[in-house]
Amino acid sequence: MSPLLKRAVPLLVVMALIIPAGIYFAAKRFPAAKTPPIEAPSISPALSILGEPPDWTSLEVFQYTITREDFERLLTTVFTVGEGWRELIVIDDAAAHIRINGPQDPDFFHLRFATPTLTRPTPRGWKSAADLPPAPPGKPLEGLHIAIDPGHIGGSWAKIEARWFVVGEGTPVCEGDMTLQVTQLLKPRLESLGAKVSLVRTKAEPITPLRPESLLTFARDSGEAADSPAALQRIAERLFYRTAEIRARAKLVNDSIKPDLVLCLHFNADAWGDPTNPTLVDRSHLHFLLNGGYNDSEIALADQRYSLLEKILRRTHEEEALVASSVANTFAAVSGLPPFIYPPNSPNARPVNDNPYLWARNLLANRLYDCPVIFAEPYVMNSTIDYPRIQAGDYEGTREINGQQQLSIFREYADALTQGLAKHYQQSRKPAE
Ligand SMILES: [Zn+2]
Repeated sequence: MSPLLKRAVPLLVVMALIIPAGIYFAAKRFPAAKTPPIEAPSISPALSILGEPPDWTSLEVFQYTITREDFERLLTTVFTVGEGWRELIVIDDAAAHIRINGPQDPDFFHLRFATPTLTRPTPRGWKSAADLPPAPPGKPLEGLHIAIDPGHIGGSWAKIEARWFVVGEGTPVCEGDMTLQVTQLLKPRLESLGAKVSLVRTKAEPITPLRPESLLTFARDSGEAADSPAALQRIAERLFYRTAEIRARAKLVNDSIKPDLVLCLHFNADAWGDPTNPTLVDRSHLHFLLNGGYNDSEIALADQRYSLLEKILRRTHEEEALVASSVANTFAAVSGLPPFIYPPNSPNARPVNDNPYLWARNLLANRLYDCPVIFAEPYVMNSTIDYPRIQAGDYEGTREINGQQQLSIFREYADALTQGLAKHYQQSRKPAE
């Protein structure tokens, strides 16, 4: 044995002991993932978080109300973005057969198609423009019940819901307060045209009685990784402002307000990063969202699969597309905003009727509200174009901002919606005899 090797022996012995011990303890600490046991097909359906198992029998009222052609067209061109629905919905000439619990389950809901000899009217609890009698002069919205849903909660909740940022010494930008401000301007404008207007919220407080603390168990069971109490708290907060709050609003809209149309008001934004040192971008745009564009994993959830069916059968899409088209075109003309364009083959959005301002997306609010919903996403709050207008607040007339005489952004928003709705209902109602 060379002297060098002799000196290395104790070191080799120590290493020979340490390495296997290290592997042993590491393996104990991070055990190799076990192969999951093969699960028997589950009878209870997969559901969205805080979602309830649907009552499929409530769709019985829609038997023989829709033709195969209309059903397939709506399903494939508006309501889905993928092909995964084919595992859950089987279509033949007479009916659509929808799996109740999932791909492995033999239970189906059978929806019979309307035929030339058997067509029943679509039961629904809301009035389309074409349903309304001729409007009295100057009152194109007479007889129409509109609910305005000011997006987000605002106030002291704005930071939790991540709809808040501040630039230097500026006034903090808080989307939930801005949507409420537009709502307060919009309500009297629509009423002066004859509409009955209900507000889904009137102050910067949540509708849901739940709070993040009451949702910690759901957060733990949500399947999302939470490696610290702070991360778990953030999941519970998101369940509060995004999920529980929208579900509570839907209950209020569907069970109490029962409007003909809901306007969900939002201001768009780009990712701004640090809310106390936000990124400003130099583009602004406009788009309106209608319900549709369900992806494969959403359709795999029984409550969303049921909602998709219910949406198709209530025929809300046709009305949403008609109203939103007039409103979007008027809004674009009033504001001069270009359309926001989703990428081609977007995994969650579909273009509607070749109108660049209209997109179908599956949002909780436009899915859960029973009647037609127009979800407005104008402006970009953290843009160099709109931020100075937001800082200027609400005012009468025009002011010079960015070198141009401009209306208050809140009034422009309310005026554009009002003019768009007035134009649509003026043109689409039955003409006076
Ligand atoms: Zn928003």
